[in-house]
Amino acid sequence: MNDTLFGKIIRREIPATVVYENDDILGFKDIAPQAPVHVLFVPKGEVIPTLDDATPDQAGLLGRLMLAAAEYARREGLAKDGYRVVMNCRDHGGQTVYHVHLHLLAGAPLGHFGAA
Ligand code: AMP
Repeated sequence: MNDTLFGKIIRREIPATVVYENDDILGFKDIAPQAPVHVLFVPKGEVIPTLDDATPDQAGLLGRLMLAAAEYARREGLAKDGYRVVMNCRDHGGQTVYHVHLHLLAGAPLGHFGAA
């Protein structure tokens, strides 16, 4: 298995603040939050390094990552005001952990993409 920092969190080998879990996804607080709420949603199974490595048979899993973030946002009362989900891909996307994951950012108005 392609081991990563997030693999160690999934296996509880290093600590994290886990706030969401279902059969195939773990959600935990980002260690360097970029918004009042910043949670990472990571598939617990085989490591997909980047979105570019994902295959059509993994479409369901990628969709479930989005739905997990939406479910968490609803549960935490964040959905009405809204939130942002982001998936960074490789260097130019700002990806630092090569284990595909979705960022959920919420809790305050976020800057508009493309704003000067
Ligand atoms: P990315 O830059 O899209 O690959 O996102 C990786 C994220 O992982 C960054 O936002 C980091 O702050 C976060 N991160 C790094 N180490 C940890 C950790 N030990 N626990 C929680 N989040 C982490």
